[in-house]
Amino acid sequence: MVEARAYDGRAKALEVVRALFARYYRSRPEIKVKDPERREFGYFEFERQVMIRHLSFRSLEELLSHLSRSVPLHAYRSSAYFTYPSAPMEEKGWEGADLVFDIDADHVDPPCGGQHVMKVCRGHGLLKGETCELCNARPVEVDWVCERCIEGARAELVKLLEVLTTDLGIREDEIEVNFSGNRGFHVVVDSSEVRTLDQHARREIVQYLTCEGITLALPRLTRSRGSRRVSRQPQPELDAWGWKGRIWRKLYVKLSQSSEGSGPESAISSLNASELRAMLEKVTREEAVKIDPVVTSDVHRLVRLSNSLNGKTGLIAKRVPLERVEEFDPFEEAVGISGGPMKLMVYYAPEFRLLNEVYREVNGPEVVTVPAHVAVFLILKGLATSV
Ligand SMILES: [Zn+2]
Ligand SMILES: [Zn+2]
Repeated sequence: MVEARAYDGRAKALEVVRALFARYYRSRPEIKVKDPERREFGYFEFERQVMIRHLSFRSLEELLSHLSRSVPLHAYRSSAYFTYPSAPMEEKGWEGADLVFDIDADHVDPPCGGQHVMKVCRGHGLLKGETCELCNARPVEVDWVCERCIEGARAELVKLLEVLTTDLGIREDEIEVNFSGNRGFHVVVDSSEVRTLDQHARREIVQYLTCEGITLALPRLTRSRGSRRVSRQPQPELDAWGWKGRIWRKLYVKLSQSSEGSGPESAISSLNASELRAMLEKVTREEAVKIDPVVTSDVHRLVRLSNSLNGKTGLIAKRVPLERVEEFDPFEEAVGISGGPMKLMVYYAPEFRLLNEVYREVNGPEVVTVPAHVAVFLILKGLATSV
């Protein structure tokens, strides 16, 4: 009975969310894709958990009008260019693909741990264990993202952009950055040099970015009796190209922060070879860019449509200009839903911030009245329903 009522409330709530999504798409958001007529598009509907794929459009205009009619929960486009984008996969005629990077709080190591799976009982709020001790109702599982998760992802994004532009020579105007609308960022590189790279070449780029197999060469350890000291100091190569220079520079910064005035050189000379190697390895692990390797290697990937709404939050998968990457605030700038205040039944919500407002923790169920964008956020997170 409780489950059935929850279900009705959920269906009603999603109808309201869908109407607000429709309003967003009718407001003509800036949805741009390069060469739209050579891309495949796909989306999830509100009603069904099935992806509708193999769509193609002759223009952005046609795409946008389709979006405002179909009102997708999630919308995607292919990273690839095809001769016949709406044909079955094997007949599409692959012509190349953007190089795509996915940075997700899941792959990053933010100070918060990045894992915020909450179990919530619709009748009794946040659960400590797997099930509610007060009733037998199935709990809702909620994947939360906090501000520190976003900061962790942003730090990776900054590292990725640096390596792409300095080591790989990709021009800034060939790079598109988008907030994912939920837990991270997407980076799309479109240049004639990368377009026709196959999955093996893309895999090599992944290996480079993630420092797979990189160990900085150290001089051989010579052991004299009773001593494990490095006989000859390795020469730090602060100006070396690529990872070597980057890792040495980072080590220097670390050592000068911790060595209290004695300077990084003397700190290095006080280390033995294995200590120094361990330190370099630690810095390498920290500096390696935490991207999702599967996404980048795949030449048939569907990527979330820039400036479309993310159906897990109602936030915009917002395009972020390169010069604003460090200051972009998704909790302020990615809010795309607008509408009057709404009455909701909240099962549970941690404290969070959205559009200039901090919302207190609710350990419900509790009926609250909140702005439409907050209602959509809580409903899509599975934390609230219509009353
Ligand atoms: Zn319960
Ligand atoms: Zn977090």
